[in-house]
Amino acid sequence: MGSCKRKEDAVEHNFDVIVVGGGIMGSCTAYQTSKRGYSTLLLEQFDLLHNRGSSHGESRTLRVTYPEPYYSSMVLESSKLWEDAQSQIGYRVLYPTNQLDIGQASDRSLQAAIQSCRSNSIEFRVLDHVQVSQEFSGGVVVPEDWIGVVSGGAGVIKPTKAVSMFQTLAFHNGAILKDNMKVTDISRDIHGCIVVSTATGEKFFGRKCVITAGAWMSKLVKVVTGREVPIQPLETTICYWKIKKEHERDYSIDGRFPSFAGYGNPYIYGTPSLEYPGLIKVGVHGGRFCDPDKRSWTPDPKLMDFLRKWVQEKFGGRIEHDHPVSAQSCMYSMTPDEDYVIDFLGGKFGKDVIVAGGFSGHGFKMGPVIGRVVADLMLHGEAKGIELQYFKLDRFDKNPKGNIKEFAEQVGTSKL
Ligand SMILES: Cc1cc2nc3c(=O)[nH]c(=O)nc-3n(C[C@H](O)[C@H](O)[C@H](O)COP(=O)(O)OP(=O)(O)OC[C@H]3O[C@@H](n4cnc5c(N)ncnc54)[C@H](O)[C@@H]3O)c2cc1C
Repeated sequence: MGSCKRKEDAVEHNFDVIVVGGGIMGSCTAYQTSKRGYSTLLLEQFDLLHNRGSSHGESRTLRVTYPEPYYSSMVLESSKLWEDAQSQIGYRVLYPTNQLDIGQASDRSLQAAIQSCRSNSIEFRVLDHVQVSQEFSGGVVVPEDWIGVVSGGAGVIKPTKAVSMFQTLAFHNGAILKDNMKVTDISRDIHGCIVVSTATGEKFFGRKCVITAGAWMSKLVKVVTGREVPIQPLETTICYWKIKKEHERDYSIDGRFPSFAGYGNPYIYGTPSLEYPGLIKVGVHGGRFCDPDKRSWTPDPKLMDFLRKWVQEKFGGRIEHDHPVSAQSCMYSMTPDEDYVIDFLGGKFGKDVIVAGGFSGHGFKMGPVIGRVVADLMLHGEAKGIELQYFKLDRFDKNPKGNIKEFAEQVGTSKL
């Protein structure tokens, strides 16, 4: 643990670990550090479980199929940690499904995902366009040059319930959670402590600090260090569509419909009917770049047009495609290569402040493993079992676009 040597004059403001941001990443980190016996404070700028960031709502996909093999292995660890947390709390937040990935047989991302299944010993089946239709009794229809990849180990996570679960477990471990506490600055004092200042005028002292500020990450890091981190907020929309009455069960989790993704530009994702009976979630993995404090709260019309057509074509006319019956705004935190940022902030903070952000629209499933990794980095200076080199900040110094990949980006923006 760090070298912070403060006198015990303000015990209630002194912590081993201060976590900035109460989304899934901050909540999982607070759970991990408190579980290991470290005094932990979590500060959230809005109400706990608010709807203004990235971790709220009714469903997120957990899938093992990733074009990058380093994510597939992380999902496998995360799945175990989801199970552990559920057994501790005594209720479920993760509902198992299969995953269906569809796309052109020649799609390089889809082929890379197949390869990544092979290298991680993940079981999967490849179906041609006829077999896709047969597998879902005509409920999924793809063009002749498309394939479907069915894999196991997937699921639907209930995000608000999941964040609440980790906050509750952290609280039971002794963590202190404070909401409506906007962090305005982070510095180091003469005792070597990390000082976290809030808009309420309070100061908290920590040996270690992690910034898990989601779409506000680049704003906060800029204030704290003057440094630009390439994490760009993007406003996106969660859409629910009405299933025609006679097909409701076919597309439901009880009817064994899988979570799914459509590879291409843009990438489409969805979950079986679960949270709202008779509705299925189908969304575009994309949106418009935004300022997290000045959002439009409206969908991107170009992406909505694309989505309507996709819903019409791919579900054999069994879903009402004219318009979604519910559309909710949410934010991604995009890096140029869509890889995460998990690193020490460095400079005067050395290894005492960590940033964990840029989850680029695919972080939720990883919350538990990110919490484990960030806690290891904070408490031991290193984390095993994860290929951290892909998540370092200095990759952008070497190449502003970050990690080089042989396939296209997955998140579409209104450049479309
Ligand atoms: C529509 C949508 C669908 C998605 N689907 C999937 C999916 O299917 N599968 C998947 O794995 N992932 C998915 N994701 C991505 C996933 O939800 C995010 O990667 C994840 O929630 C990011 O969590 P976070 O904790 O980094 O950010 P957040 O949840 O935004 O948490 C950051 C928190 O920090 C707080 N904060 C910021 N600044 C300060 C400050 N100065 N002081 C105090 N607090 C501060 C914010 O208020 C916020 O609560 C989806 C995201 C969206 C929007």
